[in-house]
Amino acid sequence: MTCRNSAIDSIEEGEKRMSEALARNGETAVAPGLSDFMPGGVLSPEPDSRVNLIGQDRDGLTALVAEMGEPAFRAKQLYHWIYMRGAKNFADMTNLSKAFRAKLEEKFRLDRPRISAHQKSVDGTQKWLLRYEDGNEAEMVFIPETDRGTLCISSQVGCSLTCAFCHTGTQMLVRNLTPGDIAGQVMLARDELDDWAQTEEAGRKVTNIVLMGMGEPLYNTDNVMAAMRLVSDGDGIAIGRRKITLSTSGVVPDIQRVGEELGLSLAISLHAVRDDLRDKIVPINRKYPIAQLMETVKGYPGLTTSRRVTWEYVMLKGVNDSDEDARTLLRLMEGIPSKVNLIPFNPWPGSEYECSDPARVESFLAILHRAGMVATIRKTRGQDILAACGQLKSESQRIGKRERDRLASIRAEKEAAVGL
Ligand code: SF4
Repeated sequence: MTCRNSAIDSIEEGEKRMSEALARNGETAVAPGLSDFMPGGVLSPEPDSRVNLIGQDRDGLTALVAEMGEPAFRAKQLYHWIYMRGAKNFADMTNLSKAFRAKLEEKFRLDRPRISAHQKSVDGTQKWLLRYEDGNEAEMVFIPETDRGTLCISSQVGCSLTCAFCHTGTQMLVRNLTPGDIAGQVMLARDELDDWAQTEEAGRKVTNIVLMGMGEPLYNTDNVMAAMRLVSDGDGIAIGRRKITLSTSGVVPDIQRVGEELGLSLAISLHAVRDDLRDKIVPINRKYPIAQLMETVKGYPGLTTSRRVTWEYVMLKGVNDSDEDARTLLRLMEGIPSKVNLIPFNPWPGSEYECSDPARVESFLAILHRAGMVATIRKTRGQDILAACGQLKSESQRIGKRERDRLASIRAEKEAAVGL
């Protein structure tokens, strides 16, 4: 899928860009309103051998409670404390007996991912680099808006795929995140934002989830679905399924399943309207070409004019941004309740693309609008921590041959691994 922050692959890189942007403006590295780089918690020197309950569903908790010789309703209570109340330790579970709490403490823990680094933008956007127990790291971003708060979460460490405009695509896949790793991101965000209010009416901050961080969710479908069951359960974290958007680069075989089993909102990273171009910039297209993708999306359950598929389209100068491209896009979407999200490209070191000129983006948008299509240009948020389109042009030109060769070999290895 298209990373919201696809131009940045590490907090360190974001820090570097932030410093450079500030330096260009003649400012110091610490600007008023920007939080300092904040190191996270210290990793425990001793691995904790107790089982982490984060990620266990009702059945899992019921089985564990039964093994302890406790009645089944204890599992229900535990589930409520973990996922509805956000308890971080068993001592807080005051309607459980002291003896049971002590037994739980002995065998289990309730660990979220740790925070390796945290940045907060002047516009309120926050970004966390999260560290899992095995030392692997993934990113999470919170984007507050007037009418909603969107949390962008990761599904893999690295990514299976090699989308040419995406910096995460240059990283090897390290591992799939587990259901606990994924749901743990949402729970950590609630901890950090003091957001365990149960409803939006009660002032909940995280109202929407987008699976647009690191990774292709449909190359980790089972774990993503298990996590989203937890996140959407009304007796738990309770974020409605329509408010959860799964974004895929077009892994066709699992798209239908997401709709049938969970009814999540769907976004497709399209980015090109011709197979010859999409084969290059979204290489999964070689396996699942545009016509097949469109047919599959057409059959996605529950699409209506009030529930549209989102087509993500990164604007690449002189590559995919012509008026003809816009008209072809309209033809492709015929018969599919759709909205289009145009994404100004953020160049990164080694990327071969530039962002389309603003006038070109506007012209593309106008063609969509004239045809009655719902279409927007993605707002740049967290510019000071995520870098703006065009800021890194000089760096992108500086990359050496050795680095280019290294990226090419990573790409070849990854594409072979997924059969491209
Ligand atoms: S699928 Fe992977 S490479 Fe493609 S945009 Fe998403 S994170 Fe990047």
